[in-house]
Amino acid sequence: MKQHKHKKRFGQNFLNNQQIIDQIIVSIRPQSTQHLVEIGPGQAALTRPLLNIVNKLDIIEIDNDLITPLMTKFGKYPNFNLHHTDALGFDYSNLLVGTKQEKILRVVGNLPYNIASPLMFHLLSFAEIIQDMHFMLQKEVVDRITANPGSKTYGRLSVMMQYSCATEFLFNVNSENFTPPPKVTSAIIRLIPYKIKPFKAQCEQTFAKLVKLSFSQKRKTLRNNLKEYLLVKQIESCNIDPSIRAEKLGLEEFVKLADKLFEVKQ
Ligand code: SAM
Repeated sequence: MKQHKHKKRFGQNFLNNQQIIDQIIVSIRPQSTQHLVEIGPGQAALTRPLLNIVNKLDIIEIDNDLITPLMTKFGKYPNFNLHHTDALGFDYSNLLVGTKQEKILRVVGNLPYNIASPLMFHLLSFAEIIQDMHFMLQKEVVDRITANPGSKTYGRLSVMMQYSCATEFLFNVNSENFTPPPKVTSAIIRLIPYKIKPFKAQCEQTFAKLVKLSFSQKRKTLRNNLKEYLLVKQIESCNIDPSIRAEKLGLEEFVKLADKLFEVKQ
């Protein structure tokens, strides 16, 4: 069989260690009645074990060269559905057919690192139909997503992801477990979109804007980063000290500031 040439532009680092593959599948806990979606199946390291368990598996792969091998291997499986397309532009609500249980998606993937953040945000726009997501990402990105206020890695990505999801670091995966090995350590993260958000902004666009502005210059205080949008006394009216930096604020405080900005804009 023709050897696959790994493509850097598609972030192709394929898992090569069965123990790690098993550990990922165990942490996903797939059940026979469930509907899973795998992004970037590659050479099917995770696809095969998932197909042997779940009721329905949709896979989304962009690389033309991987389509025929995947169809040859799995085309006959009744629970297998391949979408040869870009996961970034895909409409996940199109997958909602079948039984009630099949209308809730569980999304998994060893994600191409170059598109991981935009892809997670795209998926969050389908949060209502997603039960959970398990992703392999760069460890550094997992650290940022799961960071607490005040820590070095806490920033815009932490706040935006924690606004929508419960986030959980599961375990690290070293680079020798991939072919070819990436330059960085990877990690598995679990994201569970909230059915009811613990802190909900009146306007989510304003919230996203406020968070972006707050972190626009990391070394500057809130007062400085927000100076064209909120007065010092408006920040203080949220019980927030304008002389601190955004990295010290928790989710609830960002929501308070966003609601204040929304209020003054009206
Ligand atoms: N799941 C396999 C594994 O764990 O060995 C492959 C993972 S590899 C890191 C990423 C996979 O995502 C590749 O198969 C790549 O072709 C695919 N991919 C890259 N960009 C994509 C996109 N925009 N949409 C769908 N698949 C993509």
